[in-house]
Amino acid sequence: MAVRPYIVGNWKMHGTRSMLSEARAIDRAAERLIKVEVALAPPFTLIHATRKEAGLIGVGAQDCHAAEGGAHTGDISAAMLKDAGAGFVIVGHSERRADHGETDADVKAKAESALAVGLSVIVCVGETEEQRDAGKAESVVARQLKGSLPTADGAAEKVTVAYEPVWAIGTGRTPTTDDVSAMHRAIRKVLKDFYGEEAGAKVRILYGGSVKAENAAELLGADDVGGALVGGASLTAESFLGIIAVA
Ligand code: PGA
Repeated sequence: MAVRPYIVGNWKMHGTRSMLSEARAIDRAAERLIKVEVALAPPFTLIHATRKEAGLIGVGAQDCHAAEGGAHTGDISAAMLKDAGAGFVIVGHSERRADHGETDADVKAKAESALAVGLSVIVCVGETEEQRDAGKAESVVARQLKGSLPTADGAAEKVTVAYEPVWAIGTGRTPTTDDVSAMHRAIRKVLKDFYGEEAGAKVRILYGGSVKAENAAELLGADDVGGALVGGASLTAESFLGIIAVA
């Protein structure tokens, strides 16, 4: 298990102001936060309030537009996220890739734009079930990484990778720890090739997909797992703190 695991909650399209009490409760588990780095990515509408209500944990967003600003009705720029109090942004989540047709190039452009305003980024990658069954999981993930990772100066220091097999998201199914270990080792190799041996060794690699308190210790114990990106089980303080407690 990582020295100080990074556990990030992705609230997806869940949460109105009534859910701020959950963020507050997570934030109050301060003692635990010394050993575990904890962050939440609520919907855009709650970023500012979450930042104000929860002073200890990290707060970030689930997406941003690649452009600095302009005629993009309904979109949110990285600078706006920063202004709202975000410290990081998740880019390339498989739901964005599938629902909005985001390509690796789009994801990279978003990541670069976030880095340009000083945000950190969590770059998501992961294979579909079909790709895994065809024995292509590692090559698909390597291709996604090479196309999606930002290349700006110092990028490696601000990047976290989240490996999320698409078939494990929200399904209750998870890969075996051997499969997670093999994939994380493969990702580490790509990161070292991409950013250089030293910088590539420092990038954190999170596992995501159906993480809950019951399986967190096992998944976090796989090789080179630096933490978890958690969807469903991050929606209540009780279930999220259950994961944090075993991390
Ligand atoms: P899940 O989602 O934990 O609900 O499977 C993870 C994610 O999509 O980040």
